[in-house]
Amino acid sequence: MSERNLVQALRVKDAGAKIIRYQGVIKRYGDFQALDGVFLDVHAGEVVCLIGPSGSGKSTLLRCTNGLESIEGGDIEFEGAMLPRDPRSLRAVRQRMGMVFQSFELFPHLTALANVSEGPRTVLGMSRINATQRAMAMLDKVGLSDKVANYPATLSGGQQQRVAIARALAMEPDVMLFDEPTSALDPETIGEVLNVMKKLADEGMTMVVVTHEMTFARHVGDWVAVFDAGRIVEQGPPAQIFDAPATERTREFLSHLGWAG
Ligand code: ADP
Repeated sequence: MSERNLVQALRVKDAGAKIIRYQGVIKRYGDFQALDGVFLDVHAGEVVCLIGPSGSGKSTLLRCTNGLESIEGGDIEFEGAMLPRDPRSLRAVRQRMGMVFQSFELFPHLTALANVSEGPRTVLGMSRINATQRAMAMLDKVGLSDKVANYPATLSGGQQQRVAIARALAMEPDVMLFDEPTSALDPETIGEVLNVMKKLADEGMTMVVVTHEMTFARHVGDWVAVFDAGRIVEQGPPAQIFDAPATERTREFLSHLGWAG
């Protein structure tokens, strides 16, 4: 049994440690209910993919996970404790979660190397030499050891996103949160980013991934949650969601995308 199949088997037995637990999470923007009672568990070493139509609340859930947004109801537990509300504790917890955004969010005036070493130096207090070594190792991991001296503007979108992944990894997070990491990319650079993400998954990184890449969700995901109007309408292993969806909403969503297995 492959490592990933093993993770999935553990999941089915519910034996893996829960890294994140969403229990009835509610998020409102004014009168609008963006999250309407979300229940989901993320176990250690799992890749959980959040799919569903635009505006259904997937990114909102990620932003609530790392405290970029507060919630109005329910609970989010991270590594066995409720997410703290006071800013200082929240910052400490957030350091254990790496976040990768659709739009990279790199510092344009810093080289790839400096973008990646910045966090270890300023947040973790590492020496310049240690932070640089770690940044080099992370850039190597994402296949960019020949681009360390490049500024973001001289890199393709796919390369910039790989720098952003390296930057998040340099903080040695316990979980990586990906918010549509390939949506802003040219089609020819999407594959290189997905390959890096697959490699991380194979190494056992716990990942929550908002994605429109159904092939990734089908083949790399261990667990897939289908969102609609602020709720999870169905969740399960990819084989169930993609090959034998239980709800009409999932079937509609997949057929709208032209998913044919
Ligand atoms: P998804 O990631 O599934 O595309 P989002 O989580 O981005 O969806 O958005 C869910 C809903 O919440 C959308 O209708 C969006 O317009 C709304 N929303 C998101 N952020 C805000 C905000 N800061 N203020 C008001 N509405 C928001």
